[in-house]
Amino acid sequence: MSDALLFVNMLCSRSSQPSVIRFVRQEQGYVAVGASRQRPGSVIPGEDGTTHASFGVAEGYTGCPHCGAASFVRCGRCRKLGCWDESWEAFHCRRCGNSGPVDGVIDSLPGPGSD
Ligand SMILES: [Zn+2]
Ligand SMILES: [Zn+2]
Repeated sequence: MSDALLFVNMLCSRSSQPSVIRFVRQEQGYVAVGASRQRPGSVIPGEDGTTHASFGVAEGYTGCPHCGAASFVRCGRCRKLGCWDESWEAFHCRRCGNSGPVDGVIDSLPGPGSD
């Protein structure tokens, strides 16, 4: 199985609903090409462990399936993804309650099942 595709859990920062982002590997790193709602209890295919790469958003990414946020961030405390939109001044993590301004770039992500 190739590592060209990566699936990572994301939590909606507005509705707390889970979703799954699909990343495609490109030369510079992974870019998000789509996100879809996650059914409770569904298993996410993918590799375990942390993936070290740069993560960005591809042109055409349709955003959070729950609230439409155009991007995402990784929480600095629990290191999980939450949806985020550039128009939001701060990020509020629905997983651990952390909140604060968004800065830096994502250079690694925990794999599925690392909860
Ligand atoms: Zn959202
Ligand atoms: Zn968090």
